[in-house]
Amino acid sequence: MTGAATLFSGNSLLAATAPKKDKLGIALVGLGYYSTDLLAPALQMTEKCYLAGIVTGTPAKAQQWKAKYKIPDKNIYNYQNFDQIANNPDIDVVYVVLPPSMHREFVVKAAKAGKHVLCEKPMAPSVADCEAMIAACKDNKVKLAIGYRCQHDPNIQAVRKVARDQKFGKVKMITSAAGYFDARTDHWKQKKALGGGVMGDMGVYALQGARLATGEEPISVIAQASTTRPDIYKEVEETMMFMLDFPSGARASCQTSFGINMNYLQVNYEKGWLKLEPQSGYLGNKGSMSDGTIIDFPLTNQQAKQLDEDCLALMNQTDLLAPGEEGLRDIRVVEAIYQSVRSGKSVKI
Ligand code: NAD
Repeated sequence: MTGAATLFSGNSLLAATAPKKDKLGIALVGLGYYSTDLLAPALQMTEKCYLAGIVTGTPAKAQQWKAKYKIPDKNIYNYQNFDQIANNPDIDVVYVVLPPSMHREFVVKAAKAGKHVLCEKPMAPSVADCEAMIAACKDNKVKLAIGYRCQHDPNIQAVRKVARDQKFGKVKMITSAAGYFDARTDHWKQKKALGGGVMGDMGVYALQGARLATGEEPISVIAQASTTRPDIYKEVEETMMFMLDFPSGARASCQTSFGINMNYLQVNYEKGWLKLEPQSGYLGNKGSMSDGTIIDFPLTNQQAKQLDEDCLALMNQTDLLAPGEEGLRDIRVVEAIYQSVRSGKSVKI
């Protein structure tokens, strides 16, 4: 345990004497699109946590959020004074919603401040970053969860169950796609130094589809990167296509792109099939199976479910659905994919 956590009990969960809270206080770090449009509204619906604080580099945003969500001044931080969050008992969990290249720095800082951490996907640009983030959380006795909202969606969980139960026999072939047309021309998603590139952004959904559908980890990959807009995608790929081999012999053909609107998962088993479209939408991941089963579980808000389930696990000290190790598994594959693009050859994982 860090000195900060012991002295100030910034994370009340770590303090044996602190009363158990009904709701954990979350501080969002980075108030861009995802925090503004999805996470903050979801935090108005959650039962196990609430929006307690914000961390932003833009004073005008701090004022807007303060007024809109009634956030007290003492719970508003910037990137320079972030470390003082260690002294704030209102904040139990720090949720890092920054460009991927900044995830490591703020996850490590949050862990050192004695706070549990939620971190958006992709976990980080490299395996080394992911390992450092996991180690920092372990060293400081805090938990780390990755914002894999889809894993909390019952419609996605249904896909997992089909493989686990061998409902249609063994998984043989998977087609998994996730992409959208991104019209922006100057964004971190197009910059290598900020962790851009479609593979980390949308590609992890295509990859997760294949991993969840098999319940296995891929053993090799061959990949090809391309772009149709080289003036915009100068440093990173606009499109990535990759083929995964799994230990059971199952194979997956995956596509991800910032230039193509696509989002589906098709799994072919020995004796049947399953289709899901979309597979990583915020709401309404619907599907069907070859025996006529419809996959359409009701869900009010995916992010609220993710936040509540993660916070319940933190409160009860039970396993997180998508801990840091799960983010790392994806980034290991992502690194192998880039290695394959560079070499033009299949890469063992
Ligand atoms: P965004 O560009 O809208 O917001 C990024 C935020 O980071 C902004 O508030 C920006 O001011 C801040 N920032 C600080 N330093 C910066 C820098 N040097 N360059 C650029 N921005 C900087 O991005 P976003 O879409 O909100 O994505 C943030 C994170 O959330 C990413 O990891 C992304 O993959 C993830 N995300 C997840 C989902 C999901 O469905 N789980 C959806 C969207 C985004």
